[in-house]
Amino acid sequence: MRAAVLREIGSPLRVEDVVLAPPGPGAVEVRLAATGVCHSDLSVRDGTIPQPTPAVLGHEGAGVVTRLGPDVTGLAVGDHVVLSWVAPCRRCAFCLGGQAELCVHGIDHHFGPPYGTAGGDPVVCAMGTGTFAESTVVPEAAAIRIDPDFPLDLAALVGCAVVTGVGAVVNVAGVAPGDTVAVVGCGGIGLSAVQGARLAGASRIVAVDRIPAKLELARANGATDVVDAGDDPLGAVRALTGGLGVDHAIEAVGSSATIATAYALARRGGAVTVVGAGAFDDPWSIPAMNLMVDAKRVQGCVFGGTDPARDIPRVIALARHGALDLERLVSRRITLDAVNDAFDDMVAGEIARSLVVFDPPAATDAA
Ligand SMILES: [Zn+2]
Ligand SMILES: [Zn+2]
Repeated sequence: MRAAVLREIGSPLRVEDVVLAPPGPGAVEVRLAATGVCHSDLSVRDGTIPQPTPAVLGHEGAGVVTRLGPDVTGLAVGDHVVLSWVAPCRRCAFCLGGQAELCVHGIDHHFGPPYGTAGGDPVVCAMGTGTFAESTVVPEAAAIRIDPDFPLDLAALVGCAVVTGVGAVVNVAGVAPGDTVAVVGCGGIGLSAVQGARLAGASRIVAVDRIPAKLELARANGATDVVDAGDDPLGAVRALTGGLGVDHAIEAVGSSATIATAYALARRGGAVTVVGAGAFDDPWSIPAMNLMVDAKRVQGCVFGGTDPARDIPRVIALARHGALDLERLVSRRITLDAVNDAFDDMVAGEIARSLVVFDPPAATDAA
């Protein structure tokens, strides 16, 4: 099967023939229908997220189960599934405590043995999912069954961007009907957070970004107001909220500068929820006195506080009923060979999500 392989950190991906090993105990083989291109893939390619090579990147995919390893009990060949880069063990303290996204074994499969070979070299799959490929092998807990009549290309986006952005608003921030919300950063996750705020009944959803095209996308995704991050966002947000600031600021970039912006936009006593994945060498600080007198709650979150088995089917159901609009998140559909162009577009900052769509299997293959 063909897959986009990272041979060396910082270099473009190369589409190569990869021979997959058969699924081991508790694992399944999935033929991908589509995969989104997420900013974290760019961070892996560029070394911000450490990754051994050669590796197949990609972690936001959906497809059809084609083969079962031994001891798989919950899935069957032909099931339609959304892949999750977190595979909860269901036994650890976090899983038992309702925080499956923090499962102590949730990303063990990211560091598994090689899952195939490319040109004779052992190849690993990044983030345990390796969705920039026609097929992949994942643990059963990382493949969540969905309704077979839901479009698999849109379902792919649910595996990272949508559950992360919507989950940050609904599961972690707990936005209530009537609350005011600001979303800082309007990429795939930020736009999903905008949709999540609409779903939660926010009275005002202020999108903040420095790129006008992204502000337009935010409007199309449900933002009631848009603010150019270069034009005094604090003044603009205060003007929209009676001088107070917002009840909830959602940070969806992952940098100290945008966390500082989100902190400033929240009202006294409001909440700041940091969704973006920043760098280990980019500290954020505030004066100690402010932490007390501002009385703001600052919280991180992983994967939008998502339990994949609970939340992926829930998000699919919301999309089916029109409460979430996944098509609005797609900027363009591309082939696997154009995956490096998707990274270039991401750096240029003009787009929401590029969606790689794979050719459907030949008729003989499906029979
Ligand atoms: Zn992602
Ligand atoms: Zn666990």
